[in-house]
Amino acid sequence: MARYTGPVCRLCRAEQKKLMLKGERCKSDKCPVSKKRPAPGKDPRARAGKASDYRIQLREKQKLRRIYGMQEKQFHLFFERALRMSGITGENLLVLLERRLDNVVYRLRFAASRSQARQLALHGHVRVNGKRVNVPSFLVKPGDEIAIRESSKSLALIKDALKEFGRSGVMPWLTLDPDGMKGTFVALPRRNDVTDLADIKEQMIVEFYSK
Ligand code: SF4
Repeated sequence: MARYTGPVCRLCRAEQKKLMLKGERCKSDKCPVSKKRPAPGKDPRARAGKASDYRIQLREKQKLRRIYGMQEKQFHLFFERALRMSGITGENLLVLLERRLDNVVYRLRFAASRSQARQLALHGHVRVNGKRVNVPSFLVKPGDEIAIRESSKSLALIKDALKEFGRSGVMPWLTLDPDGMKGTFVALPRRNDVTDLADIKEQMIVEFYSK
């Protein structure tokens, strides 16, 4: 399946949720979701009918998939891996998604969005335990150190992201050394720690794929 290359704000409007796909703009009042613009193609005066279970589950899956910027095939593979793990499948899925290298680079504030983080990884700007890793879906494990390549530390894109977002700290399962442009994935996140995705109902995604 081809990667979506259309206007990303449209994806958020379709879900009526801020998926935070555009970095700085997402936190500004320019965000169309903040302005409560209706979903694309939807007449705001139309009465909302009751959505079917299938539709609700589908939307939940699409939301999470789009937040992490993944194509359906790869997202499904992550789900299957989560299914084979012990524990709660929905939570396993979230933990696997959080372990993606592009996500960790984003969470460490080296990029303003996950898509920018993906580009940083693809272009070889990222090191994991001192080694070049240019696979955005690489799974980081507890204890791994993620750093910006020495020669990339002067990149304005990274410096700007750290300056803009570094102030708000990092998620509890990470540590960040902003001056050294490196951080550590200390432990696997627990479900309750992923506070910005608290409204995601991962169990619905499990139900969607279990049909
Ligand atoms: Fe656009 Fe970001 Fe707002 Fe989504 S959250 S609509 S990507 S500005």
